[in-house]
Amino acid sequence: MASLDRTARAFLLSELVAGFALTLKYMFKPKVTVNYPYEKGPLSPRFRGEHALRRYPNGEERCIACKLCEAICPAQAITIEAEPRDDGSRRTTRYDIDMTKCIYCGFCQEACPVDAIVEGPNFEFSTETREELMYNKDKLLANGDRWETLIAANLHSEAAYR
Ligand code: SF4
Ligand code: SF4
Repeated sequence: MASLDRTARAFLLSELVAGFALTLKYMFKPKVTVNYPYEKGPLSPRFRGEHALRRYPNGEERCIACKLCEAICPAQAITIEAEPRDDGSRRTTRYDIDMTKCIYCGFCQEACPVDAIVEGPNFEFSTETREELMYNKDKLLANGDRWETLIAANLHSEAAYR
């Protein structure tokens, strides 16, 4: 009986027809895929992407070199050196993040009292070498300058939950 059933299905091409019917059914449905990188999916304002150091609107660095982010980082990925400026303010002279160690936990952002270090919305920062993932202060500040508008909007929208 089973072999007769198999022969009938092979002869009538029923599996082929069912396959084509399924294809036709999905051909007219809305797409569930996006044409990345030309199209991108929505991103949560809480997304933890590439790190950035932010500035105040007058251009001054937010970071006050308190080292809380360095202390809390479970991966020990952050290295900070600091010294007072001539005006007595305390600022970093070195702020490095080893992005190959980072586990994107967001603790540094949560620990920062002045919203200086943040994990921004950028997720497209793959590199060809490990060395390119050793971020220094200039790189982090440049990230902050590049993404500030979006970072500020995301922080504002999540402020009530922090
Ligand atoms: S996200 Fe977590 S692991 Fe990465 S630098 Fe911040 S505290 Fe460290
Ligand atoms: S980034 Fe924030 S937590 Fe880290 S040293 Fe600067 S002010 Fe302190």
